[in-house]
Amino acid sequence: MGATPKKLPFKRVLLKVTGEAFVAKPGNHGIEVDALNHLAMEIKGVRDLGLEIAVTVGGGNIFRGAMAAEAGMDRVSADYMGMLATMINGLALQNALEAINVDTRVLTSIDVHQLAEPYVRRRAMRHLEKGRVVIFAGGTGNPYFTTDTTASLRAMEINAEVILKATKVDGVYDADPMKDSSARKYTELKFIDVLKNNLKVMDAAAISLCMDNQVPIIVFNMTVPGNIKRVLTGEKIGTIVRGI
Ligand code: UDP
Repeated sequence: MGATPKKLPFKRVLLKVTGEAFVAKPGNHGIEVDALNHLAMEIKGVRDLGLEIAVTVGGGNIFRGAMAAEAGMDRVSADYMGMLATMINGLALQNALEAINVDTRVLTSIDVHQLAEPYVRRRAMRHLEKGRVVIFAGGTGNPYFTTDTTASLRAMEINAEVILKATKVDGVYDADPMKDSSARKYTELKFIDVLKNNLKVMDAAAISLCMDNQVPIIVFNMTVPGNIKRVLTGEKIGTIVRGI
C-alpha cells in the first residue's frame, strides 16, 4: 500500500456503524441494498485515500438483546442472538465491498469457522497494513455489552487514532433535533460532559474506555455522500469528543 498523504490527520481509523446504517430509515428492519451499497461506497472512499480502516458493525436492524429480554427472553441468549445479527451485517458489508473490488476480511469474536476468521489482534493489524478493510463482527463476544463498546475496545487494540461514529444526524445535540427544532449542536465536547449529561454519543462503557485511553470520537452524519472523507481530510463537520 502507498504512503499516506501527509495532509491527512489520521493513518488508521475505526468506523462504528450501527445496524441503522443498513436500512434507509430508522426503524426499518433487515438489510436494504441501497443503504448497504452507500455504506460500502463511503468505506471505499476512505480506503482510496490511503487510510487504514476497520469497521465495527452493529446489529440493531436485525436483533437487539435488551429489547428481546424486555419481551421475556433470557438476556444472555438474546445477546448472543444480537451478536449473530452483527455477523449477518458483517457478511453483507463484506459482500458489498468485494463487489466494488475492495479487499475485505471479516474477523469475528464468536467463532463461525465457515464464514469468517476468528478475531486475532495481530491478524487484524496485518490485514490493515496490507490495505484490507477489516470488519469486526460478533461484538465483544460477551453478553451485556454493545457494539459501541466493541468499537472502543477494538480501536484501542489496533491503535486506531480516532473512532468515527456514523449516525443519521450531523453531530451531538443538546436535545433530539428530530423532535426539537431549538436543539443546538455541539462542535466539541469533553468525555466527562458526555457522561455527566448522558448525551447520546455512545454508551457509558464505550465513552469511559475512550476517556481513559484518550481516543477521540467524531460523531457525524454518514448518510450525506462524501461526509466521511470530509471528516478524514480535516473538515470540521460533526462533533468531536475528546479531552478529560
Ligand atoms: N451484543 C452483545 N455483546 C456485544 C455486542 C453486541 O451482547 O459485545 C448484542 C446485544 O444484544 C446488542 C446486539 O448484539 O443489542 C446488537 O448490537 P448493538 O445493539 O450494539 O447494535 P447497534 O445498536 O449498533 O445496531
